[in-house]
Amino acid sequence: MVSAALKAQGYRGDRQAAISKVPPARYPKGISSPPEECPLPSPRLLSIPIAALCALLSWGQAVAGEVPTLRLVATTGMVADIVREVGDERVEVQGLMGPGVDPHLYRQTRSDVVAMSRADAVFWNGLSLEVQLAELLERLARRRPVFAVAEGVPREALLADEQYPDQPDPHVWMDPGRWRHAVIAVRDALIELDPDGTDDYEASAEAYLEELEELDAYAREVLASIPETSRVLVTAHDAFGYFGDAYGLEVMGIQGFSTESEAGLSRIETLVDLLVEREIGAIFVETSVSERSIRALIEGAAAVGHEVRIGGELFSDAMGPEGSYEGSWLGMLDHNVTTIARALDGDAPQAGWQARLALADPGSAEEE
Ligand SMILES: [Zn+2]
Repeated sequence: MVSAALKAQGYRGDRQAAISKVPPARYPKGISSPPEECPLPSPRLLSIPIAALCALLSWGQAVAGEVPTLRLVATTGMVADIVREVGDERVEVQGLMGPGVDPHLYRQTRSDVVAMSRADAVFWNGLSLEVQLAELLERLARRRPVFAVAEGVPREALLADEQYPDQPDPHVWMDPGRWRHAVIAVRDALIELDPDGTDDYEASAEAYLEELEELDAYAREVLASIPETSRVLVTAHDAFGYFGDAYGLEVMGIQGFSTESEAGLSRIETLVDLLVEREIGAIFVETSVSERSIRALIEGAAAVGHEVRIGGELFSDAMGPEGSYEGSWLGMLDHNVTTIARALDGDAPQAGWQARLALADPGSAEEE
């Protein structure tokens, strides 16, 4: 149904592994674009001086700033956030996917392609999360450093669907114990790109990992307060496998690891039976996935006389509003942990770990 430990021999992450190992294209320091990507038009009349002109423009940009800043692009909000945290003042990060955007379905826009082709490096989750971008990133990796940060998680720590044992669950940001490997992968990538910043990257990664551990300890404590019988987390898709594994919750998604295909009627029926049988009182919606299947589940349970409410809205594959606490990975996880603990009859402060959550009362997401 959900997941089994990934068998190393069945794992085939070779393609992504190859992507993350492709050596970067080298240009003079500060120049991040090869001549053919010069933003200038290429009228035939100017054909001779154009390459020289482009090189000059690039140099102009490089010497204008004091400390050379790495211009980076990251796919999901979660990846962008840890690159910003570790890179701090030495990086400028453009995230491609904003709040509420589903990475399983996301296709690049024209401006994404331009941003990626001009960036010093591109960071993505990998593990087949951003399936629609995979081909583009694979091509890009021949000319640019491209890092699949979730692939820094050791293979033996990955979970896989029983039906598709060679397809690891990509949602590793849901467990701080696994996500820390992605933070370390980001740190190492930044050091590789900008060795002068080694001390800075090491210091900020260390400070960030400390916060991550504190949040993990908070999560462990409040989730342990959920009564044994209520330790079931039902969500729209299987994004919470690592979360459940880390904190001892049984996890059920209406859809599988990906949101690409709709759940069938039989899946809804199976879950309705489970809700009734286990007397589950709360299920959760996700900000980046349609509520339709969750509504179907509630109606299905109501039809057989079992009342289920929406326990709250979780951030699964996208973070909260930009600039807000929930728009950071720490805030997103805090929100999820606190919402889940409170909705499943556990004990957690309404404003969460650091009293920073803008959390509505549990159940307020429910209409009527
Ligand atoms: Zn997902």
